[in-house]
Amino acid sequence: MSQHDLNWLLTHTQPEAKRMIQYLREQGIHHEDLLVLMEKLPRHQFVEPAFSHLAYSATPLPIGRHQTISQPLTVAKMTQWLLTYARPGRVLEIGTGSGYQTRILAHFFNKVHTIERQQWLYLQAKQRLSAMGINNVEYVFGDGQVGWPQKIEMDAVIITAMASKVPLALTRCLKENGVLIMPIDHPRPQIGCWRKEGDRWKCLQTDVAFFVPLLEGIEYA
Ligand code: SAH
Repeated sequence: MSQHDLNWLLTHTQPEAKRMIQYLREQGIHHEDLLVLMEKLPRHQFVEPAFSHLAYSATPLPIGRHQTISQPLTVAKMTQWLLTYARPGRVLEIGTGSGYQTRILAHFFNKVHTIERQQWLYLQAKQRLSAMGINNVEYVFGDGQVGWPQKIEMDAVIITAMASKVPLALTRCLKENGVLIMPIDHPRPQIGCWRKEGDRWKCLQTDVAFFVPLLEGIEYA
């Protein structure tokens, strides 16, 4: 940790992270382990440096390459749904982005598989989480809509970019009773949580939310 980080932490993190946790509680986040983790995590290290003073505010923030990290409440809600409905085995995340959601998943799941289509973000997140000592994550640079390169069954799939249709490869890799969390732009922007029950999908939760779009193909750094 640099001197700058240490100074920043001493002057900002404690009160700002505590306020963020208080806000999350007021908005219905009750999973204590999740709240403890989010209070400890240095969220300011995951956003563009010019915005680090806003890292604990209730707002989405730039993470580079015209992408944004969701506001803390959205991250907390999606994670709380996963912790409520999914087995904590293997999770597939589409849209590694800054690695913040990945870092949280890595705490609760045995194994995290994550895919990012922007090479620069992929490399940065991989390096960032390795430096934090996180070693139960596998990273792929690619288009997440086609799924994980090897045929592996997942307990949960979480998509962190807004789709206009459901990518079939991602539903196929889910185990029976597996959980899918996905923002979808139809009929209005929302985030939903579904459980796979045979060839049916049981809707467990939905909420209003906005995300950057799920795009096709890859972009090199
Ligand atoms: N979970 C991230 C959120 C990042 S925003 C975080 O905590 O920071 C969504 C991310 O999805 C962006 O980084 C974007 O580049 C990525 N993305 C969009 N379409 C994708 C696709 N088809 N495959 C993989 N990643 C995709």
